[in-house]
Amino acid sequence: MIPLSYEQGPIRPPSEAHSLLLRVTRNCPWNRCEFCHTYKKEKFSLRTVEEIKRDIQTIQEIVSEIKSLSWRYGLGGECGASLVNFILQDPQPHSDGFRQVALWLYGGGKNVFLQDGDNLMLKTDQLVEIIKDLKKTFPSIERITTYSRSKTVSRKSLEELQDLKSAGLSRIHIGLETGYDSLLQYIHKGVTAQQHIEAGKKVKASGISLSEYVILGLGGKGIWREHAMETAKVLNQINPDFIRVRTLKVLKMMLLYCKIEKGEFIPLSDDEIVEEERLLIEHLEGITSTFVSDHILNLLQEVEGKLPGEKEKMLKLIDRYRALPKEEKDNFRLGRRAGVYQSVEDLSKSELRNQVDRSLQQIESERPGGLEKVLSDLMESFI
Ligand code: SF4
Repeated sequence: MIPLSYEQGPIRPPSEAHSLLLRVTRNCPWNRCEFCHTYKKEKFSLRTVEEIKRDIQTIQEIVSEIKSLSWRYGLGGECGASLVNFILQDPQPHSDGFRQVALWLYGGGKNVFLQDGDNLMLKTDQLVEIIKDLKKTFPSIERITTYSRSKTVSRKSLEELQDLKSAGLSRIHIGLETGYDSLLQYIHKGVTAQQHIEAGKKVKASGISLSEYVILGLGGKGIWREHAMETAKVLNQINPDFIRVRTLKVLKMMLLYCKIEKGEFIPLSDDEIVEEERLLIEHLEGITSTFVSDHILNLLQEVEGKLPGEKEKMLKLIDRYRALPKEEKDNFRLGRRAGVYQSVEDLSKSELRNQVDRSLQQIESERPGGLEKVLSDLMESFI
């Protein structure tokens, strides 16, 4: 029997880790940002409504098959932990989609993320039809989210965005990256700060939740202050529901790498990125956004909070790291990147601390001075 499967794209935001992934478009229509390698060499295309509805139908068939399995094993039609484990370990070949649907059902079958990079490229009535079909097929769905670009959002009228909201589109994730115009040009984002502001405000006015992504470290040593402060200014005007940060890590396959090789772009150190993050948060004013640090590349994942009330708390968490002596910072950086620590607080757990100390000693004896390279390799392994 041919395993049931449907098309999936390569990525999703960290906050959509437990969401059902439904591919609506393929790749990115812009594909020129110099820090992004995700869709390089891949051509953008729109999927047809029929193709997508067929995938929704396949997902429904998978749901039915999982429910029958559950009844067969006396689990009352529910998809609990034991059934998910059975499906994940079952030697009978299940498609990735089948396993993903099982995990989605286990999580309650509530959230869906529409892939890939810019789904507002679809005609609004088509996207509305897809979203309605999804909700009709799976009444358990509570949240449907998508990526889009500010440029594309700005081409939609407020009424179109409201139609998407009424159909069930809950949130748009936008890569703001920076609010500094010179940097937006330098990285070829293809959008200006003003266009980011207009698009963000329009999403907010439509009632759709807005998540704006900022890249920590994107200004490099040259313009990190301008990056932090101009980004804060733009965010202050948009007041998005979520400000999500992720840390820059430049891979060889990214265009930005050529600028590093030429000595034109000098990446920030971890400590400098922490300074930049502090400056950004310090200048977020008059907004009610929730600041989120949910990307695995971020050093200080505990720096999260609702503005304006938790701003001081976030700054204090940053200052706690800044106040550490160098040896403790190195211990934390390695432990954090190796997945031993979740936050600076964990430095007080002696068994974890000793474990990281042993690793540091081993690095020093095998590759004296090799800590930065080890940290860089660990970060690359996350991308
Ligand atoms: S718009 Fe997004 S997906 Fe497209 S190249 Fe830029 S960062 Fe990558």
